[in-house]
Amino acid sequence: MPERKELGGVWIVTHVEYAGCTTHPHLDRMVFHVASTRRAALAWIRKIHVEPGTWWELLAFEPDCVDRERDETNAMTVVHVDARGNVVRAPNRTVARATFAARRARELASRILTRDDDRCAFCRRATKRKRRA
Ligand SMILES: [Zn+2]
Repeated sequence: MPERKELGGVWIVTHVEYAGCTTHPHLDRMVFHVASTRRAALAWIRKIHVEPGTWWELLAFEPDCVDRERDETNAMTVVHVDARGNVVRAPNRTVARATFAARRARELASRILTRDDDRCAFCRRATKRKRRA
């Protein structure tokens, strides 16, 4: 994978995790950092502790790109990095979702969250339909 620094690009560091309710989790992405090189982005990630079952995505991005061909590949270079800071081909979403469900179960068991906290808009709509029937 080419280093994009020579193009004047940046690496956007995004953290990804499952969020929402246990039944209908979704992927929640948040930008945490911007680095001028892939190496600097990886060094930053390796200093941060994140929960197992979450991961990072690095996106190569060239701001104000005027070259149309290069602009079309903007943010298409994605490097996946696991919670331990290792570059991986792809995150293991099956394990990530199971880890999310297990963590949520512990939060419910220890009453950090209530059953109602673990209900999303879909869950609430399904309950309303059942009550009407
Ligand atoms: Zn739900």
